[in-house]
Amino acid sequence: MIGDAVGSDECSRAGCRAAADWQIHWRNPRIHTPDRRKTWLACTEHVDYLREFLAAREFPLSVEPHPTKAT
Ligand SMILES: [Zn+2]
Repeated sequence: MIGDAVGSDECSRAGCRAAADWQIHWRNPRIHTPDRRKTWLACTEHVDYLREFLAAREFPLSVEPHPTKAT
């Protein structure tokens, strides 16, 4: 399963321990208010998987570079 990885710099994909290169901000319109956003972290390999996972559920989302990616 996919957990909430806020506060971690590891990819949110189950079983992946890679350092995150991306962050995905998303919201479930059915349970979250419009000002609420969840954040998943993703390595480059899994950012597309996680984005598709959310897009398939028609959740609003945005993908941004991980701000602490620097060395
Ligand atoms: Zn990963």
